[in-house]
Amino acid sequence: MNLPNPQTATRLRRQLLKWYGKNARVLPWRAPPGVRREIDPYRVWLSEIMLQQTTVATVGPYFEKFLAKWPDVKALARADRDDVMTAWAGLGYYTRARNLRKCAGMVAGELGGTFPNTAEALIKLPGIGPYTAAAIAAIAFGRSACVVDGNVDRVMVRLFALQKPIREIKSQIYNLAEALTPKTRAGDYAQGVMDLGATVCTPKNPKCNICPWADDCAAFAKGIAADLPVKPKKKAKPTRRGTAFWITRGDGAVLLRRRADKGLLGGMLEVPSSEWVVATTGIADKTSVNGSVLKQAPVAAKFKPAPGLVTHTFTHFHLELEVFTARVDGSTKGVGDNSHQWTHPDDLAEVGLPTVMMKVVQLVLGAE
Ligand code: SF4
Repeated sequence: MNLPNPQTATRLRRQLLKWYGKNARVLPWRAPPGVRREIDPYRVWLSEIMLQQTTVATVGPYFEKFLAKWPDVKALARADRDDVMTAWAGLGYYTRARNLRKCAGMVAGELGGTFPNTAEALIKLPGIGPYTAAAIAAIAFGRSACVVDGNVDRVMVRLFALQKPIREIKSQIYNLAEALTPKTRAGDYAQGVMDLGATVCTPKNPKCNICPWADDCAAFAKGIAADLPVKPKKKAKPTRRGTAFWITRGDGAVLLRRRADKGLLGGMLEVPSSEWVVATTGIADKTSVNGSVLKQAPVAAKFKPAPGLVTHTFTHFHLELEVFTARVDGSTKGVGDNSHQWTHPDDLAEVGLPTVMMKVVQLVLGAE
């Protein structure tokens, strides 16, 4: 694949920036096109971390909540770890929340409260990979950095009619995107391509009739825009199974546990559960629950199965959780360690349980 010649690249940039000037999405973390003085690197960084793996619509309220609680990087660096995890609950990919606080600590401490202004320096901070570093450098500091997210991937694949799955041609896509990245207004350009992908060159039914790049678009010329990108062959996701233990005490409080920092849902509160093991049979069956699973409960008690099953899909596997309930009366001695806490059911929505655990809550409380 040849890179676009300089005249074509210049024309594409001009057309895109003109289109962005009129059609930019209004988003809470953005300054209007062409207005650089209002851009706060803290807002750009916060939004970009939240937007990793998460849609714009989902991120909006979380961004506003974080900004209201912690208006600048120093405030976030001082925040209590559990408060940050609680505020993040429901956004998923919780490593991001832990890195967010670590990164805020480094910027507020070692860097004196100022974000670095180049992609090379930004990428050294916790939670900032090549995409995020380029996005912050371009959007917050106007650096000529090549920003390639999922939207940009799709637009490049179509603009140049690349007929292979994206993951097989990542470097080719990057080289093409880089050849189009301007020296000036790189932030507006980056946001423009992302907006074009989100609103015009959409995954389904691209709106080529209103696209500023239609005249140069190879996929449009060939009539194959909607067929691209070529889909990779999907690997089947395994199913894992586990048992959640819904333990209440006399005053109705429920036992929760904070997960270890490392790994899936690291640092988040949960309804205690057994190990999640790969399923070997087709259907979950509560009658198969035996003493060895109950031994993993944080307290010995008379457990009984709750009707129904919690299902949730993570990036790499499906999860099926059956729920066993028990009441422990009187003394709660012997229940877990300091990673456990008792929480009244009225407060469960506020403590920051991840989505899968909110499903457990709904299953139990919905059945009562
Ligand atoms: Fe995408 Fe169509 Fe525009 Fe090509 S012409 S970039 S396929 S919207």
